[in-house]
Amino acid sequence: MIVPNKIFILGNWKMKPATRNEAIAVARKIEPGNTKNTQGVIIPPAIFLGAIQQLAPSTFSYGTQDIYWEEEGSCNAEISPTQAKTTGCDYAIIGHSSRRALGETDESVNKKILACIKHDIIPIVCIGESKRDEQGQYISFLRNQISASFDGMSKADFEHIIIAYEPLWAIGSEATREATPAEAEEVRILIEKTIDEMTGHIPVGQITIVYGGSVDTAEQLTDFLNIGMKGVLVGRASIEPKKFNALLTAASSRTI
Ligand code: PEP
Repeated sequence: MIVPNKIFILGNWKMKPATRNEAIAVARKIEPGNTKNTQGVIIPPAIFLGAIQQLAPSTFSYGTQDIYWEEEGSCNAEISPTQAKTTGCDYAIIGHSSRRALGETDESVNKKILACIKHDIIPIVCIGESKRDEQGQYISFLRNQISASFDGMSKADFEHIIIAYEPLWAIGSEATREATPAEAEEVRILIEKTIDEMTGHIPVGQITIVYGGSVDTAEQLTDFLNIGMKGVLVGRASIEPKKFNALLTAASSRTI
């Protein structure tokens, strides 16, 4: 279950850095943060997990960048929920846009979320549109993505789920710009409303929603916390210890 009233600083290292030694160097420079109100999570390439867990501050939790829904089988390169959990992963990113670009579907996202919940792993489920249009078609796209990804889930399931709003146009080195707080707030409200309709009633503020997309300063973090996000999913800046530590420090000095 998600510990309430914590600010999540989630570091998605993606396929970086290039070498094990560089990964070790990054882990050594990450500072602990204030665990009273902040939960830092490092999500490195799985192959670096063992090395990093020994070096990063003990205040951190860990995650994998994907997970498979089956427990066993001839599935090269997949990571089963039990393998992840017993390697110290309490979190798993599900449905990242880079995985969706390689064929991940809402249906497989749905199965992966259920597998995570069953194995006491918190899924960080990424949703996001590829573009914004004046007619508001992105709204129906997001609605459909949310409905399909979380199909069949109950109110209680959302106590174990983090949703990351990651507009594709704001992520990674090809980002055109970051989302404005107003744009992110509109989607936070849409997520809450859609899930509220799907599950009966979930009071506003009870679903854990974070923002991801070109976040690398304390000011951005503050802006997104101010519109009701419960933290940030950080890509590129998560392997730049100075920037990542600044986010942790900023989170540590405030409450949600
Ligand atoms: C991401 O890929 O999840 C992400 C948030 O990337 P960035 O921060 O680099 O935009």
